[in-house]
Amino acid sequence: MGRDDAAWALNPDETQQLLIDESAAARQLRAGFPWLRFEDDLEREFRREQSRSRLPQIRRNLYLASALVAVFGLLNALMLAEAARLAAGALLFGLLLPVLATAIGVTYLGNAHRVYPRLAPLIAPISGIALIAVEVRAAQAGAQGVFVSVVLASVYVYYLFGLLFYQALRANLIIWCAYLGFAVVGALPEAQVFYNAVVLALANVIGATVAYTFEVEIRQHFLEQRMLAETAARDGLTGLYNRRRFDEHLLTAWQMAQREGVALALLLVDIDFFKRFNDQHGHQAGDECMKRVAAALRRSARRPLDFVARYGGEEFAVILYDPSRQYLADTAHRIHQNIAALEIMHGDSAAAAHVTVSIGVAYVAPSAERSTQGFVQLADEALYEAKANGRNGTVFSESAYDSLETGSFRSKRHAG
Ligand code: GH3
Ligand code: MG
Ligand code: MG
Repeated sequence: MGRDDAAWALNPDETQQLLIDESAAARQLRAGFPWLRFEDDLEREFRREQSRSRLPQIRRNLYLASALVAVFGLLNALMLAEAARLAAGALLFGLLLPVLATAIGVTYLGNAHRVYPRLAPLIAPISGIALIAVEVRAAQAGAQGVFVSVVLASVYVYYLFGLLFYQALRANLIIWCAYLGFAVVGALPEAQVFYNAVVLALANVIGATVAYTFEVEIRQHFLEQRMLAETAARDGLTGLYNRRRFDEHLLTAWQMAQREGVALALLLVDIDFFKRFNDQHGHQAGDECMKRVAAALRRSARRPLDFVARYGGEEFAVILYDPSRQYLADTAHRIHQNIAALEIMHGDSAAAAHVTVSIGVAYVAPSAERSTQGFVQLADEALYEAKANGRNGTVFSESAYDSLETGSFRSKRHAG
């Protein structure tokens, strides 16, 4: 077998492709998001993160809005004619300020990040409509300048209320329509209403354009951050999750399995005679071999909660959450099969003519008395035994726990 025997080499982009295939963020970046909407899971996470991270800023903005309304109310009290002054005061201090105070109160709730995003799309148009009522009343009393407050409110709704673009757009459409409705019902001069409606529409065009661009950037940033985090969790050679991510995942899965009273399986997969493979075929061929074995492993464990990582060197780890004994045995079998199917010739293996692996399996019901270290140790001992048994086989090891019914799956059983 010569060193140039690399007909099975992965194309250079394939590892990267594997990475991209698994990353929802990367897929979304490639597909784009012209309608400012990600695919379902990603969208949910984006909104959750947004509402959490922006809450303090939104609260400050709401305090600012309250202060502005108070100043506006005092200004009206000084400037407006008697008839309009009362109505304006009632609307601003009796309706708008309490609504804003409610919104501020909501931001202090423990579950504010869930409540506020539902409330804000309602509060925004209500606040706008209250201002419009003030404006129309003032205009009837001959004060034209009050309309500016409606324009300012529209801009505020785009940038400071903590709404997503489409929510802000919808709120502003309602405000715009409400202006027309109130102005017509309030019998304001047509020319003035027309002029104001156009001004408000233009303010919306500017507000919406900037808000759209802004949200595109926020979303882009979110996806890039996600991809960066995902890359940091990956092994550079194989594209599998790395050891650090494995440790994190193992702990999470362990705690979850313990809570839910279900079993966890760990498969340690080690390439047989890999040192000799490197010696025989070269280190680069060794690297290519690792990539293909990694891809075969990933193909072998594809349920949503199955987790495949590079454990270290030429050793891989597969964590199966709550697997049936059948699924566990099938997975180990599939791994041997898929790796054999790669037909990577091994010129110096005592186990077979092609590259093979040995697998050590630990199958336990996590409990408070057990540790993840013990779990790994169990799999490691099983792997050691699989090697001692002549390699290219699997050894299952399970701890006797009450919660795991015993069946055909006996402790330390060789299933080559
Ligand atoms: P065994 O069947 O007992 O597992 O024998 P082995 O030779 O596979 O085990 P050993 O631990 O003696 O050697 C592991 C080898 O794996 C040594 C090392 O050069 C090689 N290896 C580890 N990581 C890499 C890698 O990233 N690329 C390549 N090409 N080789 C690697
Ligand atoms: Mg090895
Ligand atoms: Mg090894």
